[in-house]
Amino acid sequence: MKSFGGKPGLTGYDRLKSAEFNKGTAFTDAERDLYRLRGLLPARVSTLAEQVSRALQNLRRKDSDIERYIFLLALQGRNETLFYRLLIDHIDKIMPLIYTPTVGQACQEFAYIFRQPRGFYITPADRGRVRDIMRNWPEQDVRLIVVTDGERILGLGDLGANGMGISIGKMALYTACAGIHPRLCMPVMLDVGTNNERLRNDPLYLGTKQPRLTGSGYTSLVDEFVSAVQDTFPRALIQFEDFLTPNAYALLDRYRDRVPCFNDDIQGTAAVALAGIYASGRITGVDFAATRFLFLGAGSAATGIADLVYTALRKTGLTDYDARQRLWFVDIEGLLVKGRNNIAPHNLPYAHDIPRATFAETIRQVKPHVLIGATGMSGAFTEESVRLMAGINERPVIFALSNPTSNAECTAEQAYQWSGGRAVFASGSPFDPVTFEGSTRRPGQGNNAYVFPGIGLGVIASRAHTISDDMFLEAARILAAAVTDDDLSCGAVYPPLNRIRQVSLAIAIAVAEKAWEEGVAMEACPEDLERMVMELIYEPGY
Ligand code: NAD
Repeated sequence: MKSFGGKPGLTGYDRLKSAEFNKGTAFTDAERDLYRLRGLLPARVSTLAEQVSRALQNLRRKDSDIERYIFLLALQGRNETLFYRLLIDHIDKIMPLIYTPTVGQACQEFAYIFRQPRGFYITPADRGRVRDIMRNWPEQDVRLIVVTDGERILGLGDLGANGMGISIGKMALYTACAGIHPRLCMPVMLDVGTNNERLRNDPLYLGTKQPRLTGSGYTSLVDEFVSAVQDTFPRALIQFEDFLTPNAYALLDRYRDRVPCFNDDIQGTAAVALAGIYASGRITGVDFAATRFLFLGAGSAATGIADLVYTALRKTGLTDYDARQRLWFVDIEGLLVKGRNNIAPHNLPYAHDIPRATFAETIRQVKPHVLIGATGMSGAFTEESVRLMAGINERPVIFALSNPTSNAECTAEQAYQWSGGRAVFASGSPFDPVTFEGSTRRPGQGNNAYVFPGIGLGVIASRAHTISDDMFLEAARILAAAVTDDDLSCGAVYPPLNRIRQVSLAIAIAVAEKAWEEGVAMEACPEDLERMVMELIYEPGY
């Protein structure tokens, strides 16, 4: 599918200024005559491949990743076809520039690097007219919305309206990784204020300068947003992104049976991590049903993973008790045990009936096969903890999932060094390959982008009105199956990013099949599902 809703009346200079229709130096001679572009472009007609090569060289000339990010966003606003061609053809190099880790800095500096508006903002001042202003959005057939309120951006805390960078980045990944047409995508910022005083005192801050809306005022504004989406874009899937954990769970519980929606930090992370766990079992030889897990951190990411692992463990035939015995948590207060004060509702099922213990004591007692960090704290995996894991396991599985790279619980190099090269390591943000005692390991990146684009495409194809846990289990199974023996032999429990489009397609098909199996699809089941999904895919080209 090449274009949605063409604009045949558009001519000349307007076409050069339209990100959707601009071809820049690639306008052919005939088009230059037809659209009255003669004189407005240098003489030589470039191919798309030449433009990609020029853009790559432009990128290389920049001094820093944040400058590359600024260049890429400007390109997206200038020539969408070229932007997505570049992104798709060089996904391993460009993804870290438009998403984590660079997007973290881009959000922190949002007000300083802001050039051109992108995405849709809703503020408390819009209460009562959200549906009305949503009609200002230039597209009429939105199918996918990524929404954040900016309160927990990556591991960087409350960044208020600056969090729009996350919604924008994720939307670009939907298009790059699963081929969802950019016209169908709408990044949204629920700018409900910020409790980050530094931002509120910054004269250049672009968001609402008031403390965050909370309680019923907050919930009713989110309700109004969700109803406005249902009225204006009834086919849209809503992805909740980077909300503070209590709100993330509350919103998911509130809407998951009412509208097609999911929370990527909880459910997407869970599927990606579970895929890495399945793949790591092929290296360690430990049977999945027998695997013991220790989580450092008990927020939305860790609990989301545990919830899906629990569901998967139960499907192997384990009882509730036995499945819970496989799952242990240490958070900032220590081991999660019964009787501890203020245990969050999502943590309660994992509180064990044993005495409190430190992180190191818990490793000694529980003897986990898999250690998963989702704390947002660099250095949280100490040398002692990794050595303890390596003392217990021939191949300790160490996932340091906190983003961006600077917040990872330990580095890839530390994990290999401290485990004598035996760790099966994966992280949330990318790490370069590491050479240890002469052999090179490729750390896996447990990037949610392996899963959410395929889920989105599958939901769009089937028009599923609900997104079930089994769809995420399917996504995990398919992603794990995409890891080859070659990947495993260099220590990677995820496929390289340049295979991500095949993975997304396979996930989309499996998710759509699940939707029909579960009776939640609103689209009629096609005879050839693969073909139907492939016809939805946007392939940037002139
Ligand atoms: P959160 O704030 O809800 O949870 C953080 C948890 O870590 C809390 O339970 C806290 O008690 C605990 N914690 C903090 N410091 C600790 C320490 N020193 N020792 C032990 N526990 C500590 O955050 P979240 O939404 O769960 O996200 C956590 C991290 O996971 C973020 O950095 C985020 O970027 C990352 N994440 C990664 C992926 C991925 O890799 N695919 C996906 C989503 C989130």
